[in-house]
Amino acid sequence: MANGPNDLPVLIAGAGPVALTAAYALLRQNIPVQLFDTYATVPSEPRASTFHPPTVELLEKIGVAEELLRMGIEVRYWQQRDRKKGLIAELDLNILADITRYPYRLHCEQHKYAGMLLRRVEEMSPGSVHRNSRVLSARQDADAAYLTVETRAGTREIKGRYLIGADGGRSIVRHSLGVSFEGKTFEERFLVLTTPFDFAPYGFTGTCYIADPVEWCSIFRVPADGPPGRWRVVFPESSDRPDAEVFDEAECQARLQNFFPHPEGKDYQIVHKNIYQVHQRIAGSFHVGRIFLAGDAAHINNPLGGMGLNFGIHDALNASEKIGQVWRGEADESVFGRYDRQRRTVAEEYLLAQTAQNKRDLEERDPVAREKRQAEWRETAADPKKARAFLMKTAMFESVRRANEIQ
Ligand SMILES: Cc1cc2nc3c(=O)[nH]c(=O)nc-3n(C[C@H](O)[C@H](O)[C@H](O)COP(=O)(O)OP(=O)(O)OC[C@H]3O[C@@H](n4cnc5c(N)ncnc54)[C@H](O)[C@@H]3O)c2cc1C
Repeated sequence: MANGPNDLPVLIAGAGPVALTAAYALLRQNIPVQLFDTYATVPSEPRASTFHPPTVELLEKIGVAEELLRMGIEVRYWQQRDRKKGLIAELDLNILADITRYPYRLHCEQHKYAGMLLRRVEEMSPGSVHRNSRVLSARQDADAAYLTVETRAGTREIKGRYLIGADGGRSIVRHSLGVSFEGKTFEERFLVLTTPFDFAPYGFTGTCYIADPVEWCSIFRVPADGPPGRWRVVFPESSDRPDAEVFDEAECQARLQNFFPHPEGKDYQIVHKNIYQVHQRIAGSFHVGRIFLAGDAAHINNPLGGMGLNFGIHDALNASEKIGQVWRGEADESVFGRYDRQRRTVAEEYLLAQTAQNKRDLEERDPVAREKRQAEWRETAADPKKARAFLMKTAMFESVRRANEIQ
């Protein structure tokens, strides 16, 4: 008997946080999935940690918010600071309590989110997550999408009805499609130093952006193994110095001490050092025929504003909803074009624009422009109307509204 189209699974390249979000949302609609990732287990290096209110709302709809809330910490206030002048403005997300049940940034390490979903996906669909499996290429024809996957046992081609490329910034799926990834790579890299030292008693809130014409920084509190959590301090670093030099203990210590001298005159305990290249790029199309691009495979940006992973989760839920509609015969495949129109538009208008603005605000070298920007910050924080408008944008409500409006 010939196979019907619904006998074929949805293939997902990658099993990172975006891939797993899509997989879980599809499984909840009784749509079979197969995921392929090179990893043996979810990597725990420090990466994204911010979940904005609309993301928690979307995750509530797929039954994931409750567990995420238990793992995370609520960051209601965030600050804009200047390294020399100190606090410039503090914004209170609770001003949005009339429109959301989650008027705060939820901080939870990305690997905990991915780990939770991996467990759920494997419970719902044993054997669907293929580890140690490298995607080599992707292709499609009129009836199906295909992934060529290499494992220790050899190379084989897998057939699916649709394919989601959620295989990160260097996406093989995107390369196979020949889709462009225009944008730029920043000259500087971002250095992240993680310490258990608690900055909260010294007036810092769980998210602070600290402007400086020479060396800006930002700090974020993450839950780690429990209160008071750990703090990640991010600094810009040139691209040409060897990592070993950047990670030199005395130098890292000096960086932290220059930012905020340890109040007891001690050395900071530095539990993790991480450095990464930062880009601002977007795929020329997020959808081609039976194949979707989602998350970092579709767009990458600097992490200031904590938006990249959130956008990827929104992509994953949008694509899974449309695949579900077509799977059940409620829509035809033309609905997939809307995925590209919605997600690529907001990635350009909000994700890339806002994160680029955040970086400019921190590193502004012109003293007049810096003063002007800081005056605007103070005005925004002091005026509830302006604060609300600003938070609607930076907490991602506007991008969700805008995407929903696009047909
Ligand atoms: C070092 C680093 C630090 C970051 N820090 C922050 C931060 O502080 N704040 C922030 O907001 N964002 C940060 N980001 C960005 C954020 O982590 C990403 O937006 C998020 O991980 C996107 O999720 P994703 O699932 O799309 O991609 P990824 O998390 O990259 O997942 C892609 C998955 O695909 C797998 N994969 C890739 N290629 C193949 C292949 N050929 N075959 C099989 N599997 C493959 C990978 O192993 C991985 O598991 C950081 C990113 C990096 C790289």
